Amino acid sequence: MSDQTTYVIIGAGMTGDAAAKGIRAVDESADIVLVGEEPTSPVPRPALSKKLWTDPDFTLEDADLHTAEESGARLVLDARVDGLDLEDRVVTTSDGQRFPYDRLLIATGGHPTRVEGLEPGDRVVYFRTLTDYHQLRRLSRSAPYVAVVGGGFIGTEIAAALVQNGCTVSLHHPERTLNASKFPAPIAAAYEQRFLDAGVDVQGGSTVERGEDRDDRVRLTLDDGSTLDADAVVVGLGIEPAGDLAAAAGLQMAEDGGIVVDERLATSAPGVWAAGDVAQYPDVRLGRSRVEHVDNATTMGDVVGRIMAGDDQVYDHTPYFYSAVLGVRFEAVGTLDSSLETVIDERDSGSSVVLYLDDGAVAGVLLWDAEEEGGEDARDAARALIGEQGDAAELAARIPQ
Ligand SMILES: Cc1cc2nc3c(=O)[nH]c(=O)nc-3n(C[C@H](O)[C@H](O)[C@H](O)COP(=O)(O)OP(=O)(O)OC[C@H]3O[C@@H](n4cnc5c(N)ncnc54)[C@H](O)[C@@H]3O)c2cc1C
Repeated sequence: MSDQTTYVIIGAGMTGDAAAKGIRAVDESADIVLVGEEPTSPVPRPALSKKLWTDPDFTLEDADLHTAEESGARLVLDARVDGLDLEDRVVTTSDGQRFPYDRLLIATGGHPTRVEGLEPGDRVVYFRTLTDYHQLRRLSRSAPYVAVVGGGFIGTEIAAALVQNGCTVSLHHPERTLNASKFPAPIAAAYEQRFLDAGVDVQGGSTVERGEDRDDRVRLTLDDGSTLDADAVVVGLGIEPAGDLAAAAGLQMAEDGGIVVDERLATSAPGVWAAGDVAQYPDVRLGRSRVEHVDNATTMGDVVGRIMAGDDQVYDHTPYFYSAVLGVRFEAVGTLDSSLETVIDERDSGSSVVLYLDDGAVAGVLLWDAEEEGGEDARDAARALIGEQGDAAELAARIPQ
């Protein structure tokens, strides 16, 4: 009998990639199978809405995580897992493949939230994957009018990418000012101004109620009953966690459809872990959380892989979030809610630190115009501030320039 352990990972995203590498770092003889629904091996998703559009030196070759080469995992792509038998420890795909496992990771991320009536199609992109990137690149070549739905990081970054690549772009979001519910008013205003200056037609204060892909245009209907016709539509309205497989197998689920895991990222079923966007975990600073950010996907993925392979550790990393768009990079830890008390500490460098205070305690920290390189000290200091109380100016001063 072989003492080789078989690890099956469902989901070939950034979490699956990091987990495969984490397993290999601990278990040299591991048999790792990574099953993914997308036809491509894992890519760094942030590049799909940023560098691939804005940095001519950054190519598709740079957007490859080299999963198979670096982890030795067998990649089974274009394969959707639709069966999970916890008793026999086997997963099955919709095209009839069977993968027995000793240890299983569910890293299925999430599915984009849909606009009613609007199916993905030639002119309708629910932007998330490398395939979506290629589709939008093709569409953008004829300099079309693209309506972007959603003011979150994907909507804003794609709107910026498209306008910088010659398209006419409108950006539809429900807030008074772009990101007004997250940023204090002066920062939200300056942020929105960047989009206006770049030529994006920012349309706030309304919700897209439904869409319809017509013969050669896509029609959007807004909540005030007005309509607009665009050559193409990109939707970035966030995701619904892809927990259906886990729920059907009887795993403990969170109310929002995420999979409940403990501090060792184990689910309620023996031999089954979950990580990344789909996992609801006990964050040591923020409490029970489900985080849809890349720092969480890569760090949690690495940690869960190591734990599955026998490492004795817990996941105690509070992830940060970043976006980089139209010349500004911002990073954040914790809750960004502008209805909380906010304190802005402007630095001589032009950057700012914003503290979000809930009942006097720091609930979130925004690093505005943050340094990409060497920003680790500021990120660590921001994490350490969560839950702290005291003089806000003194607290903010703990974050290095
Ligand atoms: C375009 C884009 C830009 C982003 N930019 C930033 C950024 O700037 N900063 C930041 O902090 N975060 C960013 N994010 C978020 C970050 O990339 C995600 O949080 C992270 O990639 C999630 O990784 P994941 O592997 O958990 O989930 P996913 O990326 O969703 O991957 C899950 C994979 O599982 C597959 N799958 C699902 N169900 C099944 C099944 N039944 N069978 C087989 N396979 C299945 C899916 O097809 C998918 O490939 C961005 C995300 C996107 C999409």
